[in-house]
Amino acid sequence: MLTTVSQANAYDVAMENFDSAADVMGLDKNTREMIKWPERMLTVGVPVRMDDGNIHRFTGYRVQHSSVRGPAKGGIRYHPQVSLDEVKALATWMTWKCAVVNIPFGGAKGGITCDPKKMSQGELERMTRRYTSAILPIIGPEQDIPAPDVYTNSQTMAWIMDTYSMTKGYAIPGVVTGKPISLGGSLGRNEATGRGVFSTIECACEHLHIPLKGATVAVQGFGNAGSITAQLLFDAGAKVVAVSDSTGCVYNKNGLNIPELIHMKSLCGHVDGFPEAEPILPHELLAMPCDILVPAALENTIHADNGSAVRARIIAEAANGPLTPAADRILESKGVFIIPDILCNAGGVTVSYFEWVQDEQHLFWEARDIYKRLDHVMKTAFRDVLKIHLEHNVSMRIAANMLGIGRVAEAVQIRGIYP
Ligand code: GLU
Repeated sequence: MLTTVSQANAYDVAMENFDSAADVMGLDKNTREMIKWPERMLTVGVPVRMDDGNIHRFTGYRVQHSSVRGPAKGGIRYHPQVSLDEVKALATWMTWKCAVVNIPFGGAKGGITCDPKKMSQGELERMTRRYTSAILPIIGPEQDIPAPDVYTNSQTMAWIMDTYSMTKGYAIPGVVTGKPISLGGSLGRNEATGRGVFSTIECACEHLHIPLKGATVAVQGFGNAGSITAQLLFDAGAKVVAVSDSTGCVYNKNGLNIPELIHMKSLCGHVDGFPEAEPILPHELLAMPCDILVPAALENTIHADNGSAVRARIIAEAANGPLTPAADRILESKGVFIIPDILCNAGGVTVSYFEWVQDEQHLFWEARDIYKRLDHVMKTAFRDVLKIHLEHNVSMRIAANMLGIGRVAEAVQIRGIYP
């Protein structure tokens, strides 16, 4: 177990964040009614023949929160904790996230309640294909474009792309992003979330006059976002002293050798038992005195009960929704600088946008162009959010929400209501 997780409902958190930002903006009631709620929510039964011959019926979801600024966009998550409320929260955050980095997408999210770690590749493939066929009427390159999220990856996207394309009768790579390169995926998409997190950490360090070289870092969660962020910080000369995943936590006061840790995790699937490190407990990682804490796991891992133990100067939210509003208040009063999720981890969906543009144009870009454009998008968004934070004297989270909500509100006001 990573750490204790608050019972806070992610959707309640998303709604509270919306209301706080909308209040500061003085957003009128009619616009709130138009943009606050999901446009469409689909719950599907996903029967799968398991390897033992029995049929197991999973439950899946796809929520489209907004298509005001463009096609709905967001990942698909496979996890035992997936619920409709969680997917609604994640879809809502995708809407504001795409608007914060100013890419022409709305927000969506999908998920299946399952334990992918206990399933074979064959079972995962059959589940993915059946789920795709169940949500097929509402997805498409101009309508709603899935991508990877927790415990899904480029292989999952390849199965979705194939199922969708076989049904339509021709290859349609633009229906998903985060695909393998051989199917029209983009260079740099796999490491995009981590790169984006890193760009925003660079900005925060510059703002707070903290040299990145030698800065101490703790990373909670060592999946795609956590491990790549750790690698980039290591490359920049920061000292990543503690790392955790769902199996355990490791600590070395002189800094962990991140490339070796990534290598070990790729071989045996966990960080636990890493040589030249001592095991620590999850709450010790969160309470680590460090410059930068990177929560890169699930929602609500920092909450009312453990928030006051945090001793970091910067929190970079690589995960979606890792802090509850109660934790926000505690950390804000302690002067911790928070880079909120809808800004911090927007690098993933930004390169998803680049991938979709490349697929639509059938013209592919070089890695260096992608990295340069991504860095530019992330740093522009950081500056825009920081400006609101300073000018309105609101938290970075409220500032990011104000920026995202403001752009969606403007679009909906210009479009007007149909009919
Ligand atoms: N799952 C990622 C996120 O939460 C990426 C979504 C996407 O690329 O559409 O931002």
